[in-house]
Amino acid sequence: MVGALARQGDPTPWGCCLNALLQVRHLGKSFGGVQAVVDVGFDLAPGEMLAMIGPNGAGKSTTFNMLNGQLRPDQGHISLQGQALIGRKPRDIWRMGVGRTFQIAETFATLTVVENVQMALLSHDHQLGSMWRPAAAHRQGDALRLLDQVGMKNQADRPCSALAYGDVKRVELAVALAHNPKLLLMDEPTAGMAPSERSELMALTKALVAQRGLAVLFTEHSMDVVFAHADRVIVLARGRLIAQGKPQDIRDDPQVQAVYFGSGKTFETPRA
Ligand code: ADP
Ligand code: MG
Repeated sequence: MVGALARQGDPTPWGCCLNALLQVRHLGKSFGGVQAVVDVGFDLAPGEMLAMIGPNGAGKSTTFNMLNGQLRPDQGHISLQGQALIGRKPRDIWRMGVGRTFQIAETFATLTVVENVQMALLSHDHQLGSMWRPAAAHRQGDALRLLDQVGMKNQADRPCSALAYGDVKRVELAVALAHNPKLLLMDEPTAGMAPSERSELMALTKALVAQRGLAVLFTEHSMDVVFAHADRVIVLARGRLIAQGKPQDIRDDPQVQAVYFGSGKTFETPRA
């Protein structure tokens, strides 16, 4: 049905369940008296870029932290390719193919760009703990190929501390890809970036999603970026999933607009 949005509890009209990589059902988490996440459920398919939006305090980061194992849910189920994730340690979930990029830059500033990616490849190969010397030669060709994919090969030998902020984010993306994730969680990946850089980073992510069949769940404040790059959008408000649908349907939905911005306001789409 064109224009109709699925509400929590509806069967998904996208057939997502048939080939879902990630399935989330009835997820809940409270902190003391605060219900941060209440009965949230959604699916994510390989090759899909799903945006999670909602006002501050809606429960987005709490949801992300339950998906990556940092927080244990009070209720619900999470499965990746049919394997339950709840109760596993973050590192095990990471090993199963759930990668993440961070709100705070997490690269090693004193290492060069290529060394950062080599470190990630080394860690992926379960060799962390070995001496740094062998690491210097570790899979340099693979590291450079990853840097090429994120448009950073020409800066491979610069220390990360010398990079522009947007370029650090690209390196972070290469670092995340070094682990060859099936699912990449990006909680506010463009925080602190200029509008044009935001759009570039998400366009790059989208291209990588298509190339690799990767699934991405991301949060983003700029509605321009969400509407331009998400395949599908889910909306949280006060911990509850209030709507999900294609970007255009979400943009036009009066309930979403009312909850997201307060009554009477519409989505603004400022241009960079
Ligand atoms: P968002 O990422 O959408 O801004 P959060 O998931 O960070 O929202 O927060 C959802 C709610 O849970 C908020 O009311 C927040 O204050 C609360 N919250 C989040 N983390 C904690 C915590 N560690 N302890 C107590 N309350 C928390
Ligand atoms: Mg948050």
